[in-house]
Amino acid sequence: MNIHEYQAKEVLKGYGVAIQEGIVADTPEQAVEAAKKLTEQTGTQWWVIKAQIHAGGRGKGGGVKLAKSLDEVKEISGKILGMQLVTPQTGPEGKLVRKVLIAQDVYYPGESETSEFYMSVLLNRSTGKNIIMYSTEGGMDIETVAHDTPHLIFKEEIDPSVGLQAFQARKIAYNLGLSGDAFKQMVKFVFALYKAYEGTDSSLFEINPVLKTSDNKIIAVDSKVNLDDNALFRHKDLAALRDIHEEDPTEVEAGEAGLSYVKLDGNVGCMVNGAGLAMATMDIIKLSGGDPANFLDVGGTADAKRVETAFRIILKDPNVKAILVNIFGGIVRCDRVAQGVVDAYKNIGEINVPIIVRLQGTNAEEAKELIDNSGLQVHSAVLLQEAADRVKEVLA
Ligand code: GDP
Ligand code: MN
Repeated sequence: MNIHEYQAKEVLKGYGVAIQEGIVADTPEQAVEAAKKLTEQTGTQWWVIKAQIHAGGRGKGGGVKLAKSLDEVKEISGKILGMQLVTPQTGPEGKLVRKVLIAQDVYYPGESETSEFYMSVLLNRSTGKNIIMYSTEGGMDIETVAHDTPHLIFKEEIDPSVGLQAFQARKIAYNLGLSGDAFKQMVKFVFALYKAYEGTDSSLFEINPVLKTSDNKIIAVDSKVNLDDNALFRHKDLAALRDIHEEDPTEVEAGEAGLSYVKLDGNVGCMVNGAGLAMATMDIIKLSGGDPANFLDVGGTADAKRVETAFRIILKDPNVKAILVNIFGGIVRCDRVAQGVVDAYKNIGEINVPIIVRLQGTNAEEAKELIDNSGLQVHSAVLLQEAADRVKEVLA
């Protein structure tokens, strides 16, 4: 699960990570109040207005802007709130901005230059160890850095049996070219960041940029946090940070109904029980010259209600030209699923695409009979290949 920058920063702060302070706002008026409050708290004279969407590259898309007066805070917030922000990560349709973060300006002039670094913590699945990846080239697209100047990206692997060691944090600070107070601050930053990553059961932390301010503070200016869905049950407070506006509405609906659904680009809708069978079904559709429109696992208990919800979800996709239902009756009885298909068909009313149903397992014969005698535009099949051939026929 992803969370917003303003939420991620609060989480980091809770673990002692130094951050660019900010206050979130829903309206330009709240933004002005937030700016005043920030000045009281931090003494900042300028403010940064940052669009809160679940996508990076906001700066490039015009979603991060500096305001030098309260009038500008109001004006810029008014422009950013409600905008459909397009960044290199949102796709061409962009994302609606519902909240802005009013943050203190941290690029103020001072005794030394500011520097932007890149830092992320993530799991290296091939070694089973967490790594801290970092670079002197912060503030820009890390993929570009990796492509053009791979020698400027460093990795530090953490042994899970002993955890992050002090020498490793010092090595990071050293490789980033820091000395004196900034060096010490960086060591502290790395420790706090790693503790936050572990404590939240995250799968990715990305701080880009980590800033060395002109007075040698090390702070997180941006933060992207990916929480591990499988661990959310033990982090009720983090689970509550979910923003369903940022998720695909059909996938949210499917999740609520207990269905695993992933939308794809093809034209053959699939309804299957079991992830393995769903994969096999998608493969055979491909091999028969079709293209799956989705992955959909109705789960072990493919009852009438679920089957109906699954149909409704698949039919929302205008690209769907045929639906292949492939159910193995191991726990669930095939005739019950068949009845579910027939009922769903009647309840939904207008289904204008052909449906091919393949049921195998307990009571498969009865199920086929039920479908064949229903008088509906449902084709039954016994073998998987047969089902795929039927799909091909109806698409032709
Ligand atoms: P992203 O574009 O979505 O990655 O958003 P970031 O939070 O990383 O901000 C983008 C850029 O805005 C940063 O790389 C900075 O150059 C700039 N920026 C962020 N905070 C400040 C600030 O306090 N003052 C100034 N002048 N620029 C800032
Ligand atoms: Mn960034």
